[in-house]
Amino acid sequence: MTHKILILPGDGIGPEIVAEAVKVLECLRQEHSLDATLEYGLLGGCAVDALGAPYPEETRHQARAAAAILLGAVGGPKWEKLDRPLRPERGLLAIRADLELFANLRPALLYPQLAVASALKPEIVSGLDIVIVRELNGDIYFGQPRGIRTLDSGEREGFNTMVYREAEIARIARVAFETARKRSRRLCSVDKANVLETSELWREVVERVASDYPDVALSHLYVDNAAMQLVRAPKQFDVIVTGNLFGDILSDCAAMLTGSIGMLPSASLDASGKGLYEPIHGSAPDIAGQGVANPLATILSAAMLLRHTLNTPDQAERIERAVGRVLDKGLRTMDIMAPGMIPVGTQAMGDAVVAALAE
Ligand code: NAD
Repeated sequence: MTHKILILPGDGIGPEIVAEAVKVLECLRQEHSLDATLEYGLLGGCAVDALGAPYPEETRHQARAAAAILLGAVGGPKWEKLDRPLRPERGLLAIRADLELFANLRPALLYPQLAVASALKPEIVSGLDIVIVRELNGDIYFGQPRGIRTLDSGEREGFNTMVYREAEIARIARVAFETARKRSRRLCSVDKANVLETSELWREVVERVASDYPDVALSHLYVDNAAMQLVRAPKQFDVIVTGNLFGDILSDCAAMLTGSIGMLPSASLDASGKGLYEPIHGSAPDIAGQGVANPLATILSAAMLLRHTLNTPDQAERIERAVGRVLDKGLRTMDIMAPGMIPVGTQAMGDAVVAALAE
């Protein structure tokens, strides 16, 4: 069956890094029998400019019809002052909600070649290999009511609603237990059950789901402690499951343990395994158009796409091995540069990965 992959380059460095991932997919198509077609669409600021909405109808149709989606990044100063519903980031929230992409998998894997790039001591991070499973469709990011209102006193007040239903908690817990089962069978659930009722229910439901996974060791941490432990002794973790807000923050923290935001891919999956794949970083407007962005997170996102949605783990591993070989050769974009290494730009890095696919 030919799989349809929707490519959404987005804004800022998005088009530059996505072009390199497309080179890799095209090479797999032409030389390694990947059975997929690629189609392009608009999401974010570029969609606002062209079609007047960050997640236009045209993109919605394309996204629903595709087997998987590869996204660059959205947003930038040009669109920051727009009304909230028109902001690029709303496009991202809308596509996640529309496709019910509730499970966000964010690996934080430290490539041994890059151990010096971490802000932490090499002995604390070497061998680091964590997956954070973040719930993506609920919590305070989507809860109603929300807004900014003016009180009788004339003072303005901002408000949001943190809310989780039992079914939402149970389905993300299942994804996390399944993920842990394929790894070292340890799962840590992170919440704030000492303060928040939402978290109290979260913990109760995760415990209930755990009875279906007696082979996985479940532990719980409060989010403040989890943040501390991630920096103090990150290797104690294998799989972490948490809600949307806590996951947003902890996964960025875990990303920094690996030294470069430009190296980390992510997957957002629905209940059937359809997914949106994207680097964890944003559109980096400060370096957009300069040809210096690191495309590896996007290329590794394409690898995740092949593994999780297209079910072609061999092709995924081919990409991951190629990235390892390129790092072994000493090629580095500026964000992962170290003394004695070979500085390369975005396109040269993409070309090097394509060349390494054949090795
Ligand atoms: P950012 O991730 O874009 O950039 C943070 C820093 O990391 C910058 O110095 C940037 O140059 C650097 N960086 C990021 N990706 C890099 C790469 N591939 N190679 C080399 N360096 C890289 O975060 P930000 O500056 O907070 O946000 C910029 C814009 O991106 C904002 O409009 C924000 O809303 C948006 N954003 C989008 C997403 C997304 O599309 N998923 C995620 C986060 C932020």
